[in-house]
Amino acid sequence: MKFLASLPLILLWLLLFACKSQIAASIPPTSTTVRVVQGATIPAAERTLQPIQGVEIESTSEISPSPTIERECPPSAGVPAVTHTAAVNISFSQHAAQVTQNTRYLNLTGETLENIVFDVEANRIPAAFTLNSLLVNGSDAPAYELTGREMNVHLPHPLPPGCAVELDMDFRLMPSAIGEGAAGIGGYFGYSQRQMNFGNVLPFLAARQNGDWVIHPVTAIGEQIVAEVANWSVTLSIEGAPDDLVIAVPGIIEQVGDGAIHASIDGSRDFAFSLNTGAALASQTTSNGVVVEMITFEDALVPGENGIIQGPAHALEAASRAIEMFSDLFGEYPYDRLVIVQGDFPDGMEYTGLVFVSGDWFRSYPGTPASYLFLITIHEVAHQWWYASVGNDQAFNPFLDEALATYSEITFLEEFYPDLRDWWWTFRVSTFVPPDYAGLPINSTVYQFDAARPYINAIYLNGAKMLEALRQDLGTDVFFNWLRRYAEASARRIVTPEQFWSLLSPLQLEAIAETRARFENGE
Ligand SMILES: [Zn+2]
Repeated sequence: MKFLASLPLILLWLLLFACKSQIAASIPPTSTTVRVVQGATIPAAERTLQPIQGVEIESTSEISPSPTIERECPPSAGVPAVTHTAAVNISFSQHAAQVTQNTRYLNLTGETLENIVFDVEANRIPAAFTLNSLLVNGSDAPAYELTGREMNVHLPHPLPPGCAVELDMDFRLMPSAIGEGAAGIGGYFGYSQRQMNFGNVLPFLAARQNGDWVIHPVTAIGEQIVAEVANWSVTLSIEGAPDDLVIAVPGIIEQVGDGAIHASIDGSRDFAFSLNTGAALASQTTSNGVVVEMITFEDALVPGENGIIQGPAHALEAASRAIEMFSDLFGEYPYDRLVIVQGDFPDGMEYTGLVFVSGDWFRSYPGTPASYLFLITIHEVAHQWWYASVGNDQAFNPFLDEALATYSEITFLEEFYPDLRDWWWTFRVSTFVPPDYAGLPINSTVYQFDAARPYINAIYLNGAKMLEALRQDLGTDVFFNWLRRYAEASARRIVTPEQFWSLLSPLQLEAIAETRARFENGE
C-alpha cells in the first residue's frame, strides 16, 4: 500500500449550511448504563505519588506521613495536561478496529479528584464500542459506569492536585455502513465501499469547569461536545488494505512500517482519520507554510460545457487562500497541515486539522465561487480558528463558533470576490432570515431548537447579521482588531460569551449596546 502523504486535520461542514448540524438523525435510543465493578485483577503495586516541582501538596493525615505514603508526583513543568497515546489496528475487510489507548491526565484543577469522566462518542451507537479492559496506573481495575457517551471512572485512589494519573483502555470500534441519502448522516463514523471514517471516536476527557465534568446530553440539534485541547500520538496499522489506500490523518505523520503510520498533533480538540481507496490526493503549500491536502474521488470531477470542472483543485485553492487570509486577520493558522476529505455522507464534519466536505458539494459544483462547495470549504477552514483553536461550549454558546465561521465566509468573498457580496447576503442569509425575522435570539442554546433549519437561521445566519451590525457600529478596523485579540487571547481555551464581549472597551461596549440588545433579546 502506499501512503500518499497524509494529512492533518479535519473538520468541516455541514449540511448545506455548515458544520455540526448533522446531528439530527443520529440520536441514539435511550442509553443503557453499563455499571462495572472490576475485580482487582492485578495486585495494586505500592503506589507512590510523586510530587511535582513547585506544587505544594498538603498531607491529609494528622500523623506525619511515612515515605511510602507520601504524595509524590513526577515533575510536571512543561508537561501537557492531557496526552493520548493510541495504537489502532484496523481490519479493512471487517470494518473494525482494535485499539489500545493510554491517557495521561495531569490534575491542574486545584482540587482532589475522585473520578474522571471520558466522552466516548462511539458509544452513542449501539454495539459500536466494546470496552475490553480498563486499568488505572497500569494495575488497578477501577469501577466505572458507561452510559451513552459518558464514561465515569471511579479512581481507586483520589488524585491530588498537581498529580497525574494514567488510564489504559483496550476497546473495539465497529463503524456502521453509511446509509444512502439522509440516512448517511453520521457517516463520519462509518464506512462505504471506498471510505472508512473514524471521526472523534477515540475516548477523550470531558472538560472540567467550575468543579464539574462537563458532558451534555445529546439532542436533535447540533453537537454538544465540550472538549479541552490535548496532545495526541496515534499509530494506525491496517490489515488487508488495498494497494491504493490513502490515509487522511491530521498532524505530523511518518510511516513506521509496512502498513503503519504514526500521527501526532498537539493542542487538538479531537482526533479523526479516514481511510480511502481509489482516491486522488492533491496538495498545496500556502504562502505561510501550511500544507493543505485534498482527497477526493473520481465523481468529484463533473462534466461542464467546456470540459471537466475541476472542483477539487478549485476548492483546494480556495482553502489555501482562506488559510492565508484568516492567518493575517485572526492570527497564524494553529496547526501544520489541513486535510480536506470528500465525505461519502450528506453533510460534512469538522475536526482539528481535518475536515470532511460532502461529495454532494463537489458533484453539484457549477464551477463558480458562488457555490456551496466554496462556502462550506471556507466555513470549515474558518472552524480551525473558531472551534479548534478557540473552543466554546457548543451546546450552550453555539454562536461563538458558528456565527464567526459563517461570517468568515463573507469576509473571504469580500476580499477575493467582492462582486459576490450581495449574492451571499441574499442566497445564504436573507432567503432564510428576512428583515422581519423573528426567530430565537443569538444567545440561545441548542436545546431550544427541535430542528436544524431554525437553529441554523438563528445561530449561523442571524449570527452573521449581528457580526455585520457590530462591524458597522465599531468600524471595520476596530472590529477585526477585536476578533484578532479574541482569537489570540482564547487560543487553546474554552471561552464564554462574557469573555468575547469583555475585550471591548467601555466606550466600544456603549457603541454596540443597541445592536447587542437587539440580537440577544430581540429588543
Ligand atoms: Zn460550522
